[in-house]
Amino acid sequence: MKQAAAGKFPLSLIESLLNLLFPPKCPVCKAIVEHKGDFCENCLKKLSKVRFLKTMSKDVRQIVSVAPYEGGVRELIIDIKFNKRKEKASSARNLLNEYDSAIPAYPKGIQAVYVPISKKRLRERGFNQVELIFKDWLKMRNIEVLGALVRIKDTKPQFKLSPKERKANIDGAFEVLGDARGKDILLLDDIFTTGATVYECAKTLKEHGANDIFVLTLSSNK
Ligand SMILES: [Zn+2]
Repeated sequence: MKQAAAGKFPLSLIESLLNLLFPPKCPVCKAIVEHKGDFCENCLKKLSKVRFLKTMSKDVRQIVSVAPYEGGVRELIIDIKFNKRKEKASSARNLLNEYDSAIPAYPKGIQAVYVPISKKRLRERGFNQVELIFKDWLKMRNIEVLGALVRIKDTKPQFKLSPKERKANIDGAFEVLGDARGKDILLLDDIFTTGATVYECAKTLKEHGANDIFVLTLSSNK
C-alpha cells in the first residue's frame, strides 16, 4: 500500500518493530499505513477540502476551514477533545502539513492566537487541543504565537446549545492579556460551527486594538 507520508523520514528501529506488532492504521478506513497518525493516501485525498467560509462578523476578515467536520476528522476531534487521546493530534498535524499549500499565505508579521479553553477544562483535559493541533504547522510557517486571549468565563459546551444560546453563552467569555495593538491576528480553532466563539474572540481582540483578524479552523460543518 502507498502512503501519503512515505519517504518523509526514515523509521527508527523501535518504530519499525512496534509497527510489526501493532501496525499503524489510517484513522478513517483502518488501512495499514507506515507511520502512526498517517491517513492513507485515498482518505487524505477525500478528507481535505480547504475552503473559504463566509464571515458573518465585521471583525473577521477571512475564515478558512481545512476539512469538513465529518467521518474521520470528526472522530479524530472527538477523540482528542472528549476522550483525551492526546496522541491522536498527530493525525490532525499530518492533515495540516499535507494541505499546507492550499492554506492561504498570511500577512508578514501576523501572530497566532489559539481559541482558549477555560482553566477548568484545561485542568480536566490537561491540554488545549487547538495548540496541540497547530503548533508544528505554525513553526513551519514561521508564525509566532501571541497568546493574548484567556477565557474568563466557564462556558457550557457550545454544541449543546441553539445558535442564540451560543451567543449569550460566549458573550464576555474572553479577556486580552498580551498586547494585540496594531497586530494582524490568525485565530485558530478546531471546529467552526456557528462561529459564535471565534467572533467573540475577534470582537475582544479588536476592542484591544488588533488590526486584521483571520480565522483558520481544522474543520467545519458549514
Ligand atoms: Zn484511509
